[in-house]
Amino acid sequence: MSADLPLDDLRRHGHEVVDYLVDYLARVEGLPVLPAVTPGEIKGLLPPSPPLTGESMDVVLADLDRIIVPGLTHWNHPGFFGYFAVTGSGPGILADALAAAFNNIAMMWRTSPAATELEEVTLDWLRQMLGLPAAFEGVIYDTASMASLCAMAAAREVATDSAARQYGLAVGARLRLYTSEHAHASIEKAAITLGIGLAGVKKIPTDAEFRMDPDALARAIAEDRAEGWRPFCVVATVGTTSMSSIDPIPAIADLCAREALWLHVDAAYGGAAAVVPELRWVLDGCDRADSLVVNPHKWLFVPMDCSALFTPRLDVLRQAFSLVPSYLQFAQMDEVRNFMDYGPQLGRRFRALKLWFVFRAFGVDGLAERIRNHVAWAQEFAAWVDKSPRFERLAPTPLSLVCFRAVRDDFNEGDLNKLNEHLLDAVNRRGRVFLSHTKLGNRYALRLAIGNLRTTLAHVRLTWDELNAALDELNPG
Ligand SMILES: *Cc1c(COP(=O)(O)O)cnc(C)c1O
Repeated sequence: MSADLPLDDLRRHGHEVVDYLVDYLARVEGLPVLPAVTPGEIKGLLPPSPPLTGESMDVVLADLDRIIVPGLTHWNHPGFFGYFAVTGSGPGILADALAAAFNNIAMMWRTSPAATELEEVTLDWLRQMLGLPAAFEGVIYDTASMASLCAMAAAREVATDSAARQYGLAVGARLRLYTSEHAHASIEKAAITLGIGLAGVKKIPTDAEFRMDPDALARAIAEDRAEGWRPFCVVATVGTTSMSSIDPIPAIADLCAREALWLHVDAAYGGAAAVVPELRWVLDGCDRADSLVVNPHKWLFVPMDCSALFTPRLDVLRQAFSLVPSYLQFAQMDEVRNFMDYGPQLGRRFRALKLWFVFRAFGVDGLAERIRNHVAWAQEFAAWVDKSPRFERLAPTPLSLVCFRAVRDDFNEGDLNKLNEHLLDAVNRRGRVFLSHTKLGNRYALRLAIGNLRTTLAHVRLTWDELNAALDELNPG
C-alpha cells in the first residue's frame, strides 16, 4: 500500500480531472442552472457509512459524475443571475489547485514567507485598483461576514479601551452599532457573535432610493447618548444586497468623525466597481473609513473564498486579536507580518495565490472592461424593463443589479406579489437562466444580478425573452 496516491496515478487522474473540469465549463451552459433534485435525493445515493478500505479514484470520479454533479447548482453557468453572480475563473481555478498541492498554512511569515508577502503585495495592488489611500493595509478573510466581524471587533476594542478583550462584554456595556435597514444580515450575526447583541444594532431608515439617511443616523446617535447607550460603530454599505443602493459615505464619514465612531464600509459586492475608472465614485468618501471590505470572490472573478478587508488602523485589529503562544514564536516575528494576528483564525488558506493569478491573467484594464460590460448590460436590461408596459423597475440600477417586477393594471399589490412569485418560479423552472428575489417594502421584486465572466449580452437578452415567454403563459391574452 502506498501512503498517498502513487504519483503516476496522481498524474493520470490529475489529467482526467483537468479534462473533466474544462469539459464541465464547456458544457455547463447546456445544464439547467438549478438541479432537478428533491431534498434528500443526493443523500439517498450515498452510502450511510464510510468505506472501510480504500477505493480507486476511478470509482470515485465516476461517482462524482453520477451523484454530485447532477445535484449542483451551477454558479459557473452564464445564465446564473441570482443573489450576486460570481465566477470561478480559469486562472483562479488553477491557483486553487496549486494552493492545495502546496498546502501552505498562511498563519505567520515563517509558516509561509511567500504566502504572507504575496498577500501583502496583492492586497496593495487591489488597494491601488480601488483608489484607496496608501495608509490602507489589507487582510484576506474567508468571507465578508468574517471580515466585517473582525472590523466590528476592532471598533469594540477602541470603544471599550480593550476592556472587552480582557473582561468580555459584561451585561450592561450597552454598545450600539448603526447600520441601514438594508444592511447585510452578516452585520447582525457579527453583533450576536461579539456579544453586542441584536439589541445593540440600530437600523437606520433609508431614503426613497434605499440609502441610509444621515440625519436619521445623527438623531439616533443623539437619542442613544441621552439614554445611556455607547455608540461605537457605523456600518455603511456600498451596494446593498437587496438592491445595490449606495449609502452616502461622505456625510456618514463626517458624522463618524464628529462623534468619534468607527466607520466600517461593507462594499462586498459594489466595491469591485471602483476598478472601473468612471465608476470609482462608488467609493467616494471611503478614504475616510476605518475599515472597508470588498469580496474578490464576488465580482472580481476569484473562486470562493476570498474577502479583502482594508484598514488604516491595522494596529487596532492586531491589538484586538493578537495572542501568540510560545510554540508559535520565532526570531523575526516582530519584523514581519503574521496574518494570524488579525482575527480568530490560526490556520489560513493560501488565498493570495488566486488573487495573483487572476490579477495577472486579466490585468487591471481587463478586469475593468469585464465589470464595465456587466454594468452596461444591466443598464440595457433596465432600459427594456422601463420601456415595457408589462414590467416596471423597483429600484435604481447604479451597478449590475436590476430589481424589477411584472405589472398589470387590474391587479392589486397582493395579486402582483403572487404573479411575480409565480413568474420567478416559472422562469427558473425553465432552467436556462436563474434569478432570485427580494422584498422591497411589501413588494416582491425579481433580481437580475450580472457578474459571471461567461455571461454575454446574449444571455441577458435570453433572460428577457424567457421572462416575457413565462409571463405569456401566466397571463394568457
Ligand atoms: C454578499 C454580501 C455579503 C456577504 O458575503 P460573504 O462573503 O458571503 O460573507 C455581505 N455584505 C454584502 C453587501 C454582500 O453583498
